[in-house]
Amino acid sequence: KVRVRFAPSPTGRLHIGGARTAIFNWAYARAKGGDFILRIEDTDPERSTEENVQVILNAMKWLGLDWDEGPEVGGPFGPYRQMQRMDTYTAALEQLKASGAAYPCFCTKEQLDEKRAAAEATEGGYAGYDRTCRDLDPAEAARRIEAGEPHVWRLRVPDDHGPIEFDDAVYGHMSFPAEVMDDMILVRSDGSPTYNFAVVCDDANMAITHVIRGDDHLSNTPRQILIYEALGRPVPTFAHLSMILGADGKKLSKRHGATSVEEYRDRGYLSDAVVNFLALLGWSLDGETTIIDREKLCASFDLDRITKKDAVFDETKLDWMNGVYIREMGPEAFEAAARPWIEQAGATEEWFSAHPDWASKAYPLLAERLTRLDEVPEKLAFLFWGSDVPQLDEKSVAKVLAKDGARADEVLAAARAIIADESNAWECESLQEKVRGLCDTLDLKPKMVFQPVRVAVCGNMVSPPLFESFELMERADVVARIDSVSA
Ligand code: GLU
Repeated sequence: KVRVRFAPSPTGRLHIGGARTAIFNWAYARAKGGDFILRIEDTDPERSTEENVQVILNAMKWLGLDWDEGPEVGGPFGPYRQMQRMDTYTAALEQLKASGAAYPCFCTKEQLDEKRAAAEATEGGYAGYDRTCRDLDPAEAARRIEAGEPHVWRLRVPDDHGPIEFDDAVYGHMSFPAEVMDDMILVRSDGSPTYNFAVVCDDANMAITHVIRGDDHLSNTPRQILIYEALGRPVPTFAHLSMILGADGKKLSKRHGATSVEEYRDRGYLSDAVVNFLALLGWSLDGETTIIDREKLCASFDLDRITKKDAVFDETKLDWMNGVYIREMGPEAFEAAARPWIEQAGATEEWFSAHPDWASKAYPLLAERLTRLDEVPEKLAFLFWGSDVPQLDEKSVAKVLAKDGARADEVLAAARAIIADESNAWECESLQEKVRGLCDTLDLKPKMVFQPVRVAVCGNMVSPPLFESFELMERADVVARIDSVSA
């Protein structure tokens, strides 16, 4: 059975690259009927925080990436936080001590730094730890440990080891000479495991079959394979994912703007769109299809369509995709997703109960015109003003009302008369036709008639179609707003 894991370190938020790794693991588990495990790698006590753990879990939930085993849900291979698995690392180290695959090293940091500096000054450069403690007399080593001398535990890389080889599911056949692998530290002098050691213990003990992770870990993989071999555990299949680049071809970073998942959520992207978009950073269904929802992704994801070419994060494409999902979501999903944005724009409980059908009315007007949900407040704010003076957008005022004030006033006065006339039904099409009639009467282009009314009533020029919007408002409010901006 396929068992994959996503193993974030809670040293920061869930960033875009991590989210892509999580999505690939999740989709692979779902496609193969396997298990998706979430493991928190919190062995760096200085940089790991509980807040970050919660932020990561929330981001995973928002993305809809449910995990079969891990924090909150538990599972048969727990616990799922490395800090709670210390006894398993100790047990693994005991095994390696007993077999002679691990040895204690008493070299101090100062000694190691000195050796490194000296080696770097030579032509050959630094070739790793010089193995000073590798062949210490065991009795002598035991005596020094007994005496409390600080020491780390290192892996004894076998002398006669041929090249370390593996078939990466993305990069293909890989081969690393074992001679250049130095006797890496497994357990530090304070008893904590190093990253490579903890990861191998966990992946082995959790019966992980496929390790799908960023290619920044590619150079760790041969080291980890040596540890699997020393422990006598089967080596999983590795799939290393290429880097994500910004539009400028440089590695995606803060410089490019938002990098964490919740920043995207807070900018009004839908999680469906973000998952779709990230799934296509380095993977494709057929090289063409761009809209792939979670269901389709879970049905069709496979490792053989992951590319090793670097993926480019194209925010224009994400915007486009988000618009597609907004148009597909329908009024009910829109109501739930847009509600926090409307609240931000000033809608109260009262307003919601007075307008139970706001979403079913506003959605058809807006859907075609929205890229992100953060545009909702400015597009819909006019709905909540009642008869208050509209909050006029300065640029719109300058362009539409102030430039030719006399003519704007003339238009507004004429439009007001039509709008205020109770004998005119409060209905979009007939009102629109009547106001359009002013083009002839005043000899103006439609734009010159409709724009002043739009700015006066809705405050800006980004609101949805004007007369359809009227139906969402009260006649008296519309009239009052026109009055408030007219001379
Ligand atoms: N905790 C590691 C990271 O966040 C995970 C590495 C791995 O997947 O093996 O980079």
